[in-house]
Amino acid sequence: MGVKKKRHDPSVQNGHAKMYHQTNGSVNDTFVDPMAVTWTEKYSSRIEKVWSKIPKFVGTFLVTTAICCMGLGISGDWLLILVHVIKQYRGHVADNLNVTDVDGLLESLKLKGFGYFWLGASTISYTIYYGIGGFLHWYFYVRQRDRPEEWKCQPTKFLSPELERHEIMFGSLSLLLNSTTTAMVACYVSNGGYSTIYYDPFEYPIWWFFLQFAVIFLYQDYATYWLHRIYHIPFLYKHFHKLHHKYKQPTAFSVTAIHPVESTHIQLTLILPIFLIPIHWAPFYIVALYTYYHGIIDHSGINFKAHWWQPWQPDAIFHDNHHQYFHVNFAFNIYFWDILHGTYRRKDRVYTEDIYYGRGKELTKASAKELKADIEERKSENPKAYRDNKLVYDLSNEDLQEQNVATMITKKKKKKHY
Ligand SMILES: [Zn+2]
Ligand SMILES: [Zn+2]
Repeated sequence: MGVKKKRHDPSVQNGHAKMYHQTNGSVNDTFVDPMAVTWTEKYSSRIEKVWSKIPKFVGTFLVTTAICCMGLGISGDWLLILVHVIKQYRGHVADNLNVTDVDGLLESLKLKGFGYFWLGASTISYTIYYGIGGFLHWYFYVRQRDRPEEWKCQPTKFLSPELERHEIMFGSLSLLLNSTTTAMVACYVSNGGYSTIYYDPFEYPIWWFFLQFAVIFLYQDYATYWLHRIYHIPFLYKHFHKLHHKYKQPTAFSVTAIHPVESTHIQLTLILPIFLIPIHWAPFYIVALYTYYHGIIDHSGINFKAHWWQPWQPDAIFHDNHHQYFHVNFAFNIYFWDILHGTYRRKDRVYTEDIYYGRGKELTKASAKELKADIEERKSENPKAYRDNKLVYDLSNEDLQEQNVATMITKKKKKKHY
C-alpha cells in the first residue's frame, strides 16, 4: 500500500477530528487527535507491515470472520449455543458442574452454577468485543482513514473522540447486562427450567423445523421494528433511546451502546418465542446469529451491501440513514416494514431529530434553515453506499423546482432581509 504524505481531513463533524499527518508509515509529532481506541493507531504502521505480507484473499477472509465472531460475541450467545449442543448430546450440563451448597438458593431458582455461566459469558463476550471491534476499527477507520470516500457511508464525518469513548463505555455496560441475562437464561434452561425449546428435530413434524426459520425471523424483526419505533416516541426517545442516537456516524462499537432498560427490553422481546411455541434451538440461534451479524454490519458505517440471496435485507446505508436522520427507517433486517407503515425514508421529506414519528416533514413545510441543513446533510452521504453508486436522495434543482421549494427558499430569504 502506498503511503500518503497527507491524510484526508475528517474534521467536519464535531470539530474534534483534526487533520493529522503520516510520513513513511509512522505517525509524526503533528498527530493531534487520537481516537478513543488509540492503540490501533499507535501501532498502525507496525500492524500494516504484517498485514501487507498477508495475501489479499486471506485478509478478506479474516475481516469476514472477524465480523461474524463479533456478532457471536456481543451478547454471549455462544454460551447458549454451547449449552444446547451439550444438552442435546449429554443431558443437563449443570449436573457436571462442581457447585457448592452455597448455591442452594440459586438451585431452587434453577440457576445452579450461575457463576460459571456468567463468568464464561462475560469473559468471552468482552474478549471478542474489544479484540474484534479493535481490529475492525483498525482495518477501516485507521488503515483506510485517508480514503473514507471509498468505504464510509458518511465520508466527511467521523465520531469525535469523546463520542467514541462514550459508545465503547456504554457498549461495554450493555454487554455486561446482556451477558448476565444470557447466562441466566442459559443456566435456567440447562437446569431443566421451563422453556418450549426442544432438541430432537423429529419431535415435531419436520416441516415445522424448517418453517421456524421464517417464523422466528419474521416475529423478531417485526417485533423489534415496533419496539424500536415505540422507543422513538418523544418521551421514550428522550429518556432512553437518545443515548443510542448520540452516534450520528455509528461504528461497530455502537451496536451494543444502548440504554440498559431498552437493551433488556430488546432481549426479552427476542427471546419470547422460546417460552411460547415449540422452538428447536438450532433455527433459533441461526436466526440470532444472522441478526447479530447484520447488527454489526448495519452500525459499522461502512458501505456494506446486501447479497443477492437476501432480497429482504437493506444495505448498511439504511440504518446509517437512521442514525443520520433519526426518526425514519426503523426496521432492521426487513425494510418492507417501513414501506408498509410509511416510515421508509422519502426523498421529498426533511428529517431531523426534532421531527418525530417517522414521516418527516414535507419540503414545502420545512423552514429555510431546515432545508439548508437537510440539503447539506444529503450531500455528505457517499454515493458508493447506494446501489449503482448514485445518491438516491440528492435533491437536484429540478427536484426543488418541482416542489416549488426553490422559489420558497428565495422568498423566505428575502423575507428575512426586510
Ligand atoms: Zn433509533
Ligand atoms: Zn442503531
